Amino acid sequence: MTTPAFERVAIIGIGLIGSSLARVLRRDRLAGEIVACARRPETRAKALELGIVDRAVEDPAEAVAGADLVVVATPLSAYAGIAARIGSKLRPGAIVTDVGSVKQAVIRDLGPAMPADVHFIPGHPVAGTEHSGPESGFAELFRDRWCILTPLPDTDAAALARVTALWEQAGMKVVSMDAEHHDKVLAMTSHLPHVIAYTIVGTATDLEESLKSEVIKFSAGGFRDFTRIAGSDPVMWRDIFLNNREAVLEMLQRFSEDLTALQRAIRWGEGDKLEELFTRTRAIRRSIIEAKQA
Ligand code: NAP
Repeated sequence: MTTPAFERVAIIGIGLIGSSLARVLRRDRLAGEIVACARRPETRAKALELGIVDRAVEDPAEAVAGADLVVVATPLSAYAGIAARIGSKLRPGAIVTDVGSVKQAVIRDLGPAMPADVHFIPGHPVAGTEHSGPESGFAELFRDRWCILTPLPDTDAAALARVTALWEQAGMKVVSMDAEHHDKVLAMTSHLPHVIAYTIVGTATDLEESLKSEVIKFSAGGFRDFTRIAGSDPVMWRDIFLNNREAVLEMLQRFSEDLTALQRAIRWGEGDKLEELFTRTRAIRRSIIEAKQA
């Protein structure tokens, strides 16, 4: 059994995901010391006030000094700057992992700064809410969800086992795959649904005032569920689309072809086609419920 325990864990970015992990580390006493890093004093003060970290610092280089585990948990656009700050300050033998929602871009931005004696294991806990910041985290966030690790071909097996054990301790099921595959799968399961939600809610905001207030009033008809997704953090999602452009555009292309086909079926009154599609999609919903991912 691999022990996930660490002497000092540095969490760079102590928002929803970083603070949820800090809560797991605290709850299960997995770290001798937890050091958080955030740019704003109010974020650092909140993390300390919540009692989920021992220290909170502004400089990523100071945060990683002496840490045997470093977890990068900021929006993706901050990664390259963080890499430049921490690269030469990492402790030999340290493990560097992350939680970013796109993986090829993380390898591009963090990878070149990683010294040869550091184990770099990119990861993505596929769990979240539409809320942000240290106060919105909770230890149970990860329970029964999947965590995808995208180790590089020469990754040290023992380091990979420790990162795996960490996320398992948080209640996750852990799987490894290559980064390109990850980005394709997530483009479909997460990024495309966000594109659609942002578009629908955006369309509603462009309606004339009288119609817009009716949309809000009668939102329970379906619109409300899209607003939850479209209420996700704007910076985080800007970064996801900018960093997974190719895969998102590919899925969007397929989606618009299917949308055109559906439009056609509605136009020509092809009820059998509509019913056949809706029967297939209902089966997908049922299998997600059966897999306990609803
Ligand atoms: P969040 O709640 O907005 O937290 C981001 C944190 O990063 C904040 O503490 C922020 O504090 C800090 N930060 C931002 N820029 C920084 C910088 N340059 N240096 C140091 N700290 C910085 O975001 P989140 O939802 O936890 O997302 C974090 C990462 O997890 C993203 O890469 C996202 O793709 C990934 N992810 C998110 C979800 C989700 O559903 N939310 C799920 C899986 C993975 P300051 O503003 O004070 O610096």
